[in-house]
Amino acid sequence: MATIAFIGVGNMGGGMAANLAKAGHSVRAFDVSDAALARAVAHGCTGAATGGEAAAGADAIITMLPAGDFVRAAYDGVLFAAASPHAILIDCSTIDVATAKSVGEAAAQRGLAMVDAPVSGGTAAADAGTLTFMVGGPEAAFAAAKPILEQMGKAVIHAGGAGMGQAAKICNNMILGATMVATAEAFVLAEKLGLDAQTFFDISSKASGQSWSMTSYCPVPGPVPTSPANRDYQGGFAAALMLKDLKLAVAAATTAGASVPMGAQAEALYQLFANNGGGGQDFSAIIRLLRGPARGQ
Ligand code: NAD
Repeated sequence: MATIAFIGVGNMGGGMAANLAKAGHSVRAFDVSDAALARAVAHGCTGAATGGEAAAGADAIITMLPAGDFVRAAYDGVLFAAASPHAILIDCSTIDVATAKSVGEAAAQRGLAMVDAPVSGGTAAADAGTLTFMVGGPEAAFAAAKPILEQMGKAVIHAGGAGMGQAAKICNNMILGATMVATAEAFVLAEKLGLDAQTFFDISSKASGQSWSMTSYCPVPGPVPTSPANRDYQGGFAAALMLKDLKLAVAAATTAGASVPMGAQAEALYQLFANNGGGGQDFSAIIRLLRGPARGQ
């Protein structure tokens, strides 16, 4: 069993670190939030006073932080210096491709193995150990990270070199944001035309309008009992996080010279929804914005 440093044990990292502890690893957790750290300790981790203390001598260092600036600061600040030469460095945060590439390259220059390994799946999947990991980095680093990631997820896929895990993540979530908007507006139109939502679902879920947004995460209550629409759009994947990922995708597209008009439109709609106070609701609640105030809930 390995000694694993886990930096950032918030909503996602808390469940992930707990699963590693449950699997028998010695997990040293660090978080700037005392409450997050206390939760991790209650789930079998050992609390560390600093990131450096957690990382020193560890076989693996995992970070699960809010954004690119946090990741760069953590690695440049203490983690690169504290890491053992044999340690595998795994950043599971969702961050911009450019930062992921440059932190990965900085690790390589120091002779350290590192991957970017953002996740698909929300807090429920983090708790259950059923995340999907999209991994960028050299083949040998991927091979070292894989057995650890497998203890927190159901799928671990190598996407390419440094930054390609992040590229896969934002391209995937750009599809998700755009299909959710398209699915939600179709349900609103169906409603206004007098077409019953369940009937429309029964038809479209077996026709060419089918997508994950419809059949796994339907934005109206009823057709998919597990979707957040059935619990007043609470829990699930917050609209604010969808907005974060769409911003990353649109910014990356600008840098790369790619045209993403649907992604940009989805970004604008989620920004409007967040500005109207919807950021804390599940992202399928965008249907409330599309319905407008007359039918809004
Ligand atoms: P969170 O805010 O709950 O957790 C982040 C944690 O990092 C917090 O506990 C915070 O105190 C801690 N932190 C911040 N700076 C730190 C530092 N310098 N050292 C140590 N700890 C520090 O966020 P989350 O929902 O767990 O998301 C984490 C990452 O996962 C984000 O990049 C997010 O985009 C991504 N993600 C989240 C979800 C989701 O559904 N929540 C799904 C997929 C991906």
